[in-house]
Amino acid sequence: MSLTLDEIKKIQKNFDQSHSVDGRSFYVSVGEEDAAYLEHMAVCLIGEVGEFCNVLKKVVRGDLSLVDAKPDLSEELTDSFIYLIKIANQFGVDLEAEFLAKVEKNKVRFKLEE
Ligand SMILES: [Mg+2]
Repeated sequence: MSLTLDEIKKIQKNFDQSHSVDGRSFYVSVGEEDAAYLEHMAVCLIGEVGEFCNVLKKVVRGDLSLVDAKPDLSEELTDSFIYLIKIANQFGVDLEAEFLAKVEKNKVRFKLEE
């Protein structure tokens, strides 16, 4: 299966718009007065990255092999991706355009060594 980033964003937006907890929708179009909600989503994103790092820590410590940990690492990376997509959707960030602009910026910053 192959999905475009735009398709992924739409799937997540549809999910968030059709789900809620305690009467609060999973989808909020973030405006000036919603910085605390944006902060909440950023904390959730970092929490998921932290879960990824915690599994990786156990690999480095020798508790798990990287192969055995890969399913958990994959899940935590995906959780992180979901929060990244949620933030982009709800904060109105055009990830495709920003990605392409950043690649161009990095080409200048990290010039090829000859
Ligand atoms: Mg998780």
